[in-house]
Amino acid sequence: MLDGKLLIGGKWETCEKMFESFNPATGDVIGRACLSGIEEVTEAVKEAKLAQKGWKKTDISERAKILTIAGDEILKRSHDLKTLITIEMGRPLFESDIEVRKTSEMVKYFADEGKTCLEGDAISISPDKSSFTIFEPVGVVGIIKPWNYPLLLPFWAIAPALIAGNTVVFKPSDMTPFVGIEIGKICQDAGIPDGVINVVTGDDFTGKSLVSSDIDMISFTGSSDTGKNIMKNSADKLHRISLELGGSDAFIVFKDADIEEVINGAVWGRFMNCGQVCVSPKRIFVEDDIADSFIKGFVKKTRDLVIGNGLDSRTDIGPMVSMEQREKLELQVEDAARKGAMIECGGKIPSSPQNGFYYEPTVLTGITPEMKVMNEEVFGPVAVISVFDDMDEAIALANRTIYGLGASVWTKNLDTAMHMSSQLECGMVWINEICTLNPQSPWGGIKHSGMGRDLARYGIREFVNVKHVNIKLGSDKTRPWWFPYGK
Ligand code: NAD
Repeated sequence: MLDGKLLIGGKWETCEKMFESFNPATGDVIGRACLSGIEEVTEAVKEAKLAQKGWKKTDISERAKILTIAGDEILKRSHDLKTLITIEMGRPLFESDIEVRKTSEMVKYFADEGKTCLEGDAISISPDKSSFTIFEPVGVVGIIKPWNYPLLLPFWAIAPALIAGNTVVFKPSDMTPFVGIEIGKICQDAGIPDGVINVVTGDDFTGKSLVSSDIDMISFTGSSDTGKNIMKNSADKLHRISLELGGSDAFIVFKDADIEEVINGAVWGRFMNCGQVCVSPKRIFVEDDIADSFIKGFVKKTRDLVIGNGLDSRTDIGPMVSMEQREKLELQVEDAARKGAMIECGGKIPSSPQNGFYYEPTVLTGITPEMKVMNEEVFGPVAVISVFDDMDEAIALANRTIYGLGASVWTKNLDTAMHMSSQLECGMVWINEICTLNPQSPWGGIKHSGMGRDLARYGIREFVNVKHVNIKLGSDKTRPWWFPYGK
């Protein structure tokens, strides 16, 4: 049984109230973590403020060196980390292993890129002016993250925040507190000084307390509803906020696409991580001419997927993260079926494995616009397939959503690809690809999918204040635009 403590000012502290973390594959309790309240959060923010005075003065190459060590530490612990991720949130070990490797690569990218990206820009105004920007840390960053990538998502905010000279109070999801605690240990072992990173485990109230505290910025990833709450609760203090929220990405298949490749990509994209991915293809649109063969192939491949405990190497799909998430998904499928959707396969809790929060990979067709699956984010293993006649209809269907995170288009025609990229209302478009990410490319959405960008140079500059310095060279007694205007 794991025993979770809080990392505040470099010390691991116990607390009075605790909560349990479950293994979603079995329903067993894996440990008890601290339920931080206002007191613990206030203490962590105070320590982060104190530590920021020293951390912002360290040379950026020193900060980069420490982050590179953190990247190596992640790899060194890859076996334990991937096992913990799978036990705490359920996904297959193979996927957890990829998350660990990606996280290490990303932390090292931020260490390298930060050095050049934060140098400041020279600005050319006129021969008698020297003008340039300085990038200064924002201060203390409150980082609040979800459970679906419990190592990667925290680090893709922690690393750029730290390289820019900020300090951090991090609140992991209450589904994955123990991965959050490991993040604190990795940072400590890499040599990040006391107070520069603080970890407060807890529930939604802990997150709310962090938003209302004396921080300077919130970096949030999670659902659109929580993002809106955070924005409201930040208004009085005018905290800087970056929001990476939910999505209902369109996956659009034109008749010239390679049908085998596109079926393989769609099934993997939709069911990877048990369908609990922000940029998973949550609404699939197929051109009429190939719809039958696409659906037939998609259903066949879906039926072949192996459901099981993520620790078993044969498993393709693990359990959903919680009973609550599964119940939400069941309601969405029931609503679609009641309104006339066809359940091509799945649509129920499997008879085996018996314990845990499993749900059969499901394919729905006969979709109509008023169904919940077309209007809400479907965060689980359910594929929703509709048919379109031409490009204009595909664009209209894809954009008919409050979300605007990503989209994926499958075609061999580059003109079609370019036209679709310009017309889709979202922050990222993949052509003949799905759910890939690399640290060099910006990540984020529009509409109800959020604001601000993670990753790449854009992601680093989210964590700085831009100061403009304008120096007048030489000395003139006055300027043509100064008083008196009469002359
Ligand atoms: P969630 O919004 O329920 O919770 C996210 C985090 O916010 C948790 O740590 C939670 O404790 C905290 N929280 C909840 N209420 C809060 C409040 N009022 N104030 C402050 N903090 C609060 O989301 P979730 O279920 O953990 O994650 C799934 C969601 O995350 C999906 O919508 C998914 O699309 C989204 N997501 C988006 C991206 C992206 O890059 N856009 C990436 C991953 C996940």
